[in-house]
Amino acid sequence: NNGGKKETHKANFEIDLPGAEVGKVVTRFPPEPSGYLHIGHAKAAILNEYFAHNYKGKLIIRFDDTNPTKEKEEFQDSIIEDLALLGVKGDIVSYSSDYFEKMYELAIQMIKDGNAYCDDTPLEKMREERMVGDASERRERTVEENLKIFTEDMKNGTEEGLKNCLRAKMDYTAPNKALRDPVIYRGNLTPHHRTGTTWKIYPTYDFCAPVVDSIEGVTHALRTNEYRDRNPQYEWILKALNLRHVHIWDFARVNFVRTLLSKRKLQWFVDKKYVGNWDDPRFPTVRGVRRRGMTVEGLRNFIIAQGPSRNIINLDWSVIWALNKKVIDPIAPRFTAVDAENAVVVNLDGPAKPYTEEKPKHKKNPDVGLKPVVYANQVLIDQADAIAIEDNEEITFMDWGNVIVQKIVKEGDIVKSIDAKLHLDGDFRKTSKKLTWLADTKDKVEVDLVDFDHLITKDKLEEGDNFEDFLTPETEFHSKAFADLNIRTLKQGEVIQFERKGYYRVDKPYEEGQTPVLYTIPDGKTVSKY
Ligand code: ATP
Ligand code: MG
Ligand code: MG
Repeated sequence: NNGGKKETHKANFEIDLPGAEVGKVVTRFPPEPSGYLHIGHAKAAILNEYFAHNYKGKLIIRFDDTNPTKEKEEFQDSIIEDLALLGVKGDIVSYSSDYFEKMYELAIQMIKDGNAYCDDTPLEKMREERMVGDASERRERTVEENLKIFTEDMKNGTEEGLKNCLRAKMDYTAPNKALRDPVIYRGNLTPHHRTGTTWKIYPTYDFCAPVVDSIEGVTHALRTNEYRDRNPQYEWILKALNLRHVHIWDFARVNFVRTLLSKRKLQWFVDKKYVGNWDDPRFPTVRGVRRRGMTVEGLRNFIIAQGPSRNIINLDWSVIWALNKKVIDPIAPRFTAVDAENAVVVNLDGPAKPYTEEKPKHKKNPDVGLKPVVYANQVLIDQADAIAIEDNEEITFMDWGNVIVQKIVKEGDIVKSIDAKLHLDGDFRKTSKKLTWLADTKDKVEVDLVDFDHLITKDKLEEGDNFEDFLTPETEFHSKAFADLNIRTLKQGEVIQFERKGYYRVDKPYEEGQTPVLYTIPDGKTVSKY
């Protein structure tokens, strides 16, 4: 301690960042532009932003673009859009490729200091040597020889160069295998989406992360704790190059049951057309969960609540959907839908001509506004409701009043129609059934309600499981319903509630001659039928 008074800021988390000073913290979110952001990335992004802003510091969004084989401009653009969608705003946007020249120089310095060597040991053999703790035959190459191979052969991508990689000379016998001379540079002739064909060699993550973190002024590198074994090599590289120390802070990966969070595997589903695209509602991508009806607020609340937990857990989706429900329930306007299959006509002795009244869209939140409700002599109710009604029972039609059933026409176990009499003076507190109903007029709208199942059948795939062996045969379920006229005015992306049914998000709004499509939003409580 220098005796100066350091202002520290208590974060809302149980754990503060070690050595964090208000105004000086710099964190970074380093996505590789090799796919669309998924909910795991969202956790990393939101945590980094949370700490940066909580400590009044800075957040760097760094595209970790060091493997041209996997990376594309398209992915980079989508990541920028998705971060904006999540409300994560970086103070600085950078690219690992901005530092290719600098990293190349530092790699040369490593060679000159005797801290790195070129190795053309075949992959399999190298793996075996690392496994058992043997030294590579190339480990004692001279500095001159290493410099020549690295700066001439490897740099120019010659045949000889492509056989070699550059390895850090750490400790080939270390009990922590991450320290057994990790590869820090390797050749790749694929053109890079930013630097074209300038480079034929690229730093690995193990080299790039510590070097660029240090150069960019990162004070706290948040890493998922599957990298914990690699923390000592991160520190080793900084020391070897005499670079500024960076605090590493681990957090747990998020995993969800029956869900794959790997860009490579998600790409497989896209390529095989198991899903529409990266924004498929069955996908755990930011776009997918948004399309399914997740709000940014729900997602953020979930991640902040999880906070710094270090246990890798396999979460049930109900946790996050339940938080989302708390966000949407108070504001989602409420409408009416009746299952089209075996919908039951109720004939009333009511108004000779249909008429319309304005009613609140949300009974508990007048701010949501008013909607027209159509009243008519003929209404539809759900078969499931109708089947439970008894002869002469008095029931309540929500937003209308009581009716007394006079006749129930059945065919087998199916109710065909009901005759009933309005009894608007009746006391709704005395009825046991409060039913949703829909005026059976030309105003009603046919809608397509869609529900989904998870793409895979196994809760948690184990090491050695091939996900292709656990594909859910059917994952998309459509049902037809009739909904009230207000559905015609809904816009794409709007979230609503169908009373007594649940929450839905408009995926395809109404258009003349086309059926609107609404996706079921899980509420974390109702167990999906599937
Ligand atoms: P994938 O396996 O899907 O390609 P990745 O970790 O290789 O994921 P990156 O783009 O390198 O993808 O990740 C960017 C950041 O997101 C990293 O800091 C990484 O640790 C973090 N991250 C990735 N997956 C998860 C997850 N499931 N939970 C929490 N953080 C994650
Ligand atoms: Mg990665
Ligand atoms: Mg990965």
